[in-house]
Amino acid sequence: MSDNIATVAYLGAAILFIMSLGGLSNPETSRRGNFYGMVGMTIAVLATVFGPRVDLVIGLPWILGALAVGGAVGLYAARKVQMTQMPELVALMHSLVGLAAGFVGFASYVDTSVVYSGAEKAIHEVEIYIGILIGAVTFSGSIIAFGKLSGKIGGKPLLLPARHALNLLGLVVVIWYGVQFVSAPDVNAGMVPLAIMTVIALLFGIHMVMAIGGADMPVVVSMLNSYSGWAAAATGFMLANDLLIVTGALVGSSGAILSYIMCRAMNRNFISVIAGGFGTGGGSTPAASGEQPAGEVVAVSAVETAEMLRSAKSVVIIPGYGMAVAQAQHTVYEITKLLREKGVNVRFAIHPVAGRMPGHMNVLLAEAKVPYDIVLEMDEINDDFPDTDVSIVIGANDIVNPAAEDDPTSPIAGMPVLQVWKSKTSIVMKRSMASGYAGVDNPLFFKENNRMLFGDAKKMLDEVFVALKG
Ligand code: NDP
Repeated sequence: MSDNIATVAYLGAAILFIMSLGGLSNPETSRRGNFYGMVGMTIAVLATVFGPRVDLVIGLPWILGALAVGGAVGLYAARKVQMTQMPELVALMHSLVGLAAGFVGFASYVDTSVVYSGAEKAIHEVEIYIGILIGAVTFSGSIIAFGKLSGKIGGKPLLLPARHALNLLGLVVVIWYGVQFVSAPDVNAGMVPLAIMTVIALLFGIHMVMAIGGADMPVVVSMLNSYSGWAAAATGFMLANDLLIVTGALVGSSGAILSYIMCRAMNRNFISVIAGGFGTGGGSTPAASGEQPAGEVVAVSAVETAEMLRSAKSVVIIPGYGMAVAQAQHTVYEITKLLREKGVNVRFAIHPVAGRMPGHMNVLLAEAKVPYDIVLEMDEINDDFPDTDVSIVIGANDIVNPAAEDDPTSPIAGMPVLQVWKSKTSIVMKRSMASGYAGVDNPLFFKENNRMLFGDAKKMLDEVFVALKG
């Protein structure tokens, strides 16, 4: 393939990636967005493999081997992974992008086939240094995020006493070694500062994510997504590959925008998220005051729930992480259809951080074919709760916790939540009184107009469905 054709193919792929991002911004066009992304990536891979810079005689067996191994692992993971494990998988994928950036950085530093001199050499070395730095932070940070999301590492933030000073010291040392690296006379001399910086960056990635509390994890996931983009862009600079630079920048900037949106949704300042500490994690931390909320917990049966739903005019369904665990989305939609046929106004309320990844609930509801026009964002529906007869909370907890509004000492104070307690009756479906991801007790369960439907969401909804039909 000639240089010109490869350039045109790269341009086409870049346009398709931009169209893909545009498509993914809306649930209705997201399938198309995904398709554009797949076509763009196929073009990009073909144009690179058959492009002018790959010597197929030497390279083809390596490329085919890598494609076979990577493709097989990807295919296996995609088929095997449960929807609830998706966030962990995404975190793991981010770590691979970081690892790749690190490997490419070291490889291009020791590569003697191209000889740089003067300013070009300095620029190339700065690219390598920054590329490995971002790659190493992304790699170790994503591994810790994977551990936290999968529950292998506790959600409780690790708050070292002098953590800010430590981070600052790390930055100063990294800059100092950067100067040593660029001024090193040869590869052997440069390898020492490069290796020391890599170790510091790895430790920084671990420290950064360990210091972040359970409730801030959504921001971390999108932030690491952004880092992985910048790591890919840095790889593009090292390899002088324009498409990788463009694609990396697209992922990096869209991830940064997503982090900003997540911060706004949680009423958090980006810097204080990175500084860490929000959300205690762990699963059973008592409310900040240490007292049990006043009131009584009233449990209801599936049949009683069905009766309340049947006599309601307006119902709002609030899905959360538990709906994903129980895979209850299809039954939820069956119940929705039944109620709508009976003339009940049923709508869904989606909190921006519901579930364990951005858009988690939208994906599940789209999978169950719930029409988009009855799926509303928090801002669109929060004022409607006082006019709602029944709000039914399916496996959600933190996103409906009134303590975020009422208790300034709560670890999630200030986070906007869905005000289900303002509806005439709220019904919370979950298996026990356990707290949610942020590890904060929920006074909603004790409110006078709240009922608890205990049990696995899928099983209980099946029972509600049968009772409703009957
Ligand atoms: P939560 O984690 O707060 O609560 C989920 C609830 O679901 C639990 O209290 C659990 O209670 C219940 N549950 C679990 N399994 C089942 C089941 N099979 N049937 C019925 N109920 C079940 O989830 P939310 O969606 O309310 O909030 C999301 C949380 O996750 C927030 O703290 C957010 O910050 C965090 N997060 C979000 C990310 C994102 O990008 N969206 C990423 C990372 C973290 P029980 O055990 O009693 O059943």
